[in-house]
Amino acid sequence: MPVFRCGICGSQSWQALSEMDGKTGCPLLTALCLQCAVAQVTPLPDAETLHAFYAQAYREAYKGVRRPKKKHVARAARLASERLGWLAPRLFPGARLLDIGAGGGEFVALARARGFDAEGVEPHAGYAAHARAAYAAPVASVPLDALELRPDFHLVTAFHVLEHLRDPVIALRRLSGCLSPEGALAIEVPNLSYQHAAPRNTFFAAHLFHFTPETLISTAARAGLRPLEAQIAGDGAVIRAIFRPGAGVAEAPPASLAAEIMALYARRTWGRYLLSPRVWRKLPARLWRVAEESFWSLRCRRAEDIIRRLA
Ligand SMILES: [Zn+2]
Repeated sequence: MPVFRCGICGSQSWQALSEMDGKTGCPLLTALCLQCAVAQVTPLPDAETLHAFYAQAYREAYKGVRRPKKKHVARAARLASERLGWLAPRLFPGARLLDIGAGGGEFVALARARGFDAEGVEPHAGYAAHARAAYAAPVASVPLDALELRPDFHLVTAFHVLEHLRDPVIALRRLSGCLSPEGALAIEVPNLSYQHAAPRNTFFAAHLFHFTPETLISTAARAGLRPLEAQIAGDGAVIRAIFRPGAGVAEAPPASLAAEIMALYARRTWGRYLLSPRVWRKLPARLWRVAEESFWSLRCRRAEDIIRRLA
């Protein structure tokens, strides 16, 4: 029996939510904390293994490349444009932005093209080098725990980062240390309570923690952050939330949440997934998106041209 200690609340009370890595089919225990309802890979990998993985192997393992291809740029640029649209009400010309886990730098490059003073950090050396070479985007190749904390950013963004980290509460505290007095922190993570995911599309070795809207807010409260807004996006698959430092409504998630999550995953089968009309209804939009991204990646000679088109 593995030893479980929740990385968020410290509880040792758990239940197995999944026992397989959906990507590889290899054994992988993801345990649900029965106290705070956050799910986590058990045991967690040690810090050195994780550093080495993100610095050298993550993109290769997940995308098969050392630097993004144009089709990856087209997708990342479309997402960057959507995210900037979401954040637009909180931005002003010249606002200082810091993007954590900046990937190939598309968000930083597009934000700069739209008049913001954006920079990024990305642990993967090849992706950070691409950001600097393709867009002249200031993206430093450093892991989060080596990040110099300067409290002068109006907005710090971390899209699909928190679920990859060994200690999300400490990471959130570090990120809030980068905020200016009026600054805010924008977080995007996959939604554990998404009802319509394919059965093998949730649990991977790289996703160490899994949140619902309620547990993301209660986790952030442990880092001294209160929510300004939280919304479900991407057809329910994604949580987007904005936080500010400050004592918040640190409400614990409802006691029934862990049981609801266990029930949701017990119901998740390929049969139910394939018979769900919602899955089929979203297929045309998905195909259109892929076609559009392929079109722009073929049409544009350089990655930079894809960004310029959306600027
Ligand atoms: Zn817990």
